[in-house]
Amino acid sequence: MTGTKAGFIRHLGFVAVMALTGFGLVAGEAASADSTPAKQIFGKVQLPSNSAASPIGFYAKGCMAGAVAIPTDGPTWQAMRLSRNRRWGNPAMIAFLERFSQDAAQLGWGSGILIGDISQPRGGPMLTGHASHQIGLDADIWFTPKPAQPLSAQAREDMPFTSMLDKSKFLTVNSTRWTPTHAKLVMQAASYPQVERVFVNPAIKKKLCDTWTGDRSLLGKVRPVYGHDEHFHIRMHCPPGASGCKAQAPVASGDGCDKSLAWWFTKEPWAKPKPGAKPVKPRFVTLADLPKACAAVLAAPAASEQSATFGTAYVAPQPQTGDAAIQQVINAGSDDLQDTAIPIPLSRPAPQ
Ligand SMILES: [Zn+2]
Repeated sequence: MTGTKAGFIRHLGFVAVMALTGFGLVAGEAASADSTPAKQIFGKVQLPSNSAASPIGFYAKGCMAGAVAIPTDGPTWQAMRLSRNRRWGNPAMIAFLERFSQDAAQLGWGSGILIGDISQPRGGPMLTGHASHQIGLDADIWFTPKPAQPLSAQAREDMPFTSMLDKSKFLTVNSTRWTPTHAKLVMQAASYPQVERVFVNPAIKKKLCDTWTGDRSLLGKVRPVYGHDEHFHIRMHCPPGASGCKAQAPVASGDGCDKSLAWWFTKEPWAKPKPGAKPVKPRFVTLADLPKACAAVLAAPAASEQSATFGTAYVAPQPQTGDAAIQQVINAGSDDLQDTAIPIPLSRPAPQ
């Protein structure tokens, strides 16, 4: 990247930080702004950029331009925990969720799905939870169906999660809660070509391995991971033409009901740090660690919530003047996307 361009981007980041904090910075404070954790900057943004949709970077290290929101209520879905303001995603994700919700209702999953976190308005790292969900292509779906009577806004804040595990046993699905429809729902999610991976608890993956009689090839997309016993997580492929989006290495062929799954049932993934071991102090990701276009995304003008809510009134923004800055950096910044030091997926033995 040329010095002029780098300076331009640094300027955009500086403007974004000033705009977000609501007060100007004097020269001496600029350095401290650079060390601000990116989650604090992205976590405060209320609205998406008014620009063409673009996932930028990797699922666990990036941001998003031109996000749209899924409406809080639809015929076959409800968005949960509205106060978190995380129902924003790439339009491909939002359109997918609407379609998936219909298919879920059709296969007998209540009257549709309850949708958990997608992404923040401009993506990026979050103040609480989630290593990924940063580029608008990850979404959490509750293992609780949407009830026939819509939940109130308050109920959507307070309704407790229901674990699918029997917590009195080691990594075991609760057979009074888990039903064949749960299995069908997860496998339905894995069935779409635009879905890249589906994350579930290892106990759930094992249950599917032991019981699924449908197309076993789709099981390979269902990946075991910590948590994910109250909800499952759908990850989409980078949409066609999204040049700033860094794809994840494809899943290995096969159903994944192998050594890679067996590893979760050993002590290793659950081992506590040795007594006296020095805790590793995590270094917070800063804006400078993210793809450079993310500073331009922060600096871009906001869309209104209404104009950016998916549905009949939503019109996809066409690339415009403000987008040039974002696109310019995406085009120039392919070096950003070479970073392989990404904390997920978690290390595990190579699948057989
Ligand atoms: Zn998730």
